[in-house]
Amino acid sequence: MHEPTDRVRRAERSQIRVMYDLAARTEGDIVRLEVGEPDFDTPAHVVEAAATAAREGATHYTSNAGLPECRRAICDAMATDYGVEHDPEEVVVTVGGMEALHLATLATVGPDEELLYPGPAWPNYVTQAFLADGEPVEVSMAPETGFDLDADRLIDRMGPTTAAVVLTTPSNPTGRVYDPEAIRAVVEAAADHGVYVIADEVYTGLTYDREPRGVAALCGHPDHVLTVGSCSKTYAMTGWRLGWLAGNRDVVDEILKIRESTTACASSVSQHAAIAALTGPQDPFEEMYNAFRRRRDYVVDRIEAIDGLSAPRPEGAFYAFLDPEVEGDSLTFAKYLLEEHGVVLAPGSGFGTAGEGRLRLSFANSMDRLEAGLDRIEAGTASY
Ligand code: PLP
Repeated sequence: MHEPTDRVRRAERSQIRVMYDLAARTEGDIVRLEVGEPDFDTPAHVVEAAATAAREGATHYTSNAGLPECRRAICDAMATDYGVEHDPEEVVVTVGGMEALHLATLATVGPDEELLYPGPAWPNYVTQAFLADGEPVEVSMAPETGFDLDADRLIDRMGPTTAAVVLTTPSNPTGRVYDPEAIRAVVEAAADHGVYVIADEVYTGLTYDREPRGVAALCGHPDHVLTVGSCSKTYAMTGWRLGWLAGNRDVVDEILKIRESTTACASSVSQHAAIAALTGPQDPFEEMYNAFRRRRDYVVDRIEAIDGLSAPRPEGAFYAFLDPEVEGDSLTFAKYLLEEHGVVLAPGSGFGTAGEGRLRLSFANSMDRLEAGLDRIEAGTASY
């Protein structure tokens, strides 16, 4: 019998996708707050730089690691914006943060080894562990602390088969920016256990209440920390598929060997777009950042005013992780909100055990739509 491998069969369809597809089939005025990407277009100067590069012949493979100017631009931006210091030789330009996470997992997690992550968390880590023939392990964080990083819980779960731990800060889905002391404790314990730390920092540029700082920068740049970044969220460039992985030279060199057989390199045109985004005028990005922060403030105020609804204060990214006081599971409630009230949210169960009972609201949408969406959530919570 021919059968697809367990590696691919173990993967499950994302519940965010389930809602996305249901919403796409539903007629009428639907407020879509389930989508995890900026609603802005990529700034004009970035598009122009990419178009010019394409016209001038930047249409070929680049080296596996990426264009030297792009690696340099990434290093400079990481150092200036987040305090993360790397040489260009320690950076691989990837097809989004997604490929960087996939490569980092493949390079650090062996068959039957564990990939740990604090929950609730972005569901792709589970699939990425499966693709490495490893075991994803969610370590649930406490709702009472707004799902902040509980270092002891995570460290207690580290064992002889733990190979890597993913720290996502700011977090998708909670918007939590992890406490620096807890991060340091986890990174130190990981060193003692021979565990890699994969720092998923695709939302670091959208940190609102404190200075954005990378995990490596907080911990003195130890060799076992691998940093993942991306142009997607901060620069409104999701479709360009441009991210990066930065880490010690040995790991990066190993990754470059397999890269030729996966995607070979990130799109040459997108690499030119990234250079323009990272080194060009920053005003369009500041405008987007300010818009996200205003929306965050609005969403927080609205949630506070709604009976039976609460959420930890989002300190980064563009998500509020709602805790509605209703009975039953989050997928059923999300379907009810869509069918009866015309508003789409991502069910919390899609983000692991710790997320059940919650709903993720994305505020990557206009103020008008947020207002309409929150009115509908208010009505739906009251009538469920
Ligand atoms: N990490 C997290 C937590 C995300 O939410 C996403 C995208 O939604 C990514 C990584 C990957 O983003 P991209 O591949 O667009 O850079």
